[in-house]
Amino acid sequence: MREILVLIDELLRGRYSKPQEKLEEPLDVLIRTILSQNTTDRNSHRAFANLKRKFPLWEAVLNGSEKEIEAEIRCGGLSWIKARRIKEVLGRIKKDSGALSLDFLGKISLKEARDYLLSLPGVGDKTASCVLLFSFAQPVFPVDTHIHRIINKLGLWANRLTPKRIEEIVEACLPRERFLSLHLNLIRLGREICKSRNPLCPHCPLKEMCKYYALRFPGESR
Ligand code: SF4
Repeated sequence: MREILVLIDELLRGRYSKPQEKLEEPLDVLIRTILSQNTTDRNSHRAFANLKRKFPLWEAVLNGSEKEIEAEIRCGGLSWIKARRIKEVLGRIKKDSGALSLDFLGKISLKEARDYLLSLPGVGDKTASCVLLFSFAQPVFPVDTHIHRIINKLGLWANRLTPKRIEEIVEACLPRERFLSLHLNLIRLGREICKSRNPLCPHCPLKEMCKYYALRFPGESR
């Protein structure tokens, strides 16, 4: 499996290049990922940008009212739930660490850091992994809807896999320096080519290894 995953990463790097590795502020990643739940990339980016414009500091978000926060993130959907979660999460972090910062996650083990993130309200596997990968360069592999769809279309395993199972397999097999590029380039492939409706298979760099392609275009693969 390691060879296949490395090959996928190489093919995607060949199409999209190797993404720049630049650590991001962990609270930004956490809140951005909470805002991305159950909405489109475009709407969640707008919601995050609106929130940062109105409240440049997370301290101001913590001290703001749910109504004020909700007004800024409304375009991202489920705004009343997300506004409450964001305030709860910021409140918990401040109470637990004494500051509005997640920098302490870099000083504890990967397991402890993941467990802490998962203990926060509304934070699941994908959100926790995004923080650990984008902000601490840990060898974790967040699986979003694009990655889940692509991996199952490729049909590398006999059965459809859950996001959690994909995460476990990739984390066990892939060399750590490839986690970020495989994650980001699969998402890009999902946005541009392997769309949920009507994937543009003839343009896909992975078509030679894809079971869905072989079924949809018999005789054209391999
Ligand atoms: S060949 Fe088609 S289904 Fe397979 S990964 Fe590429 S776009 Fe998706």
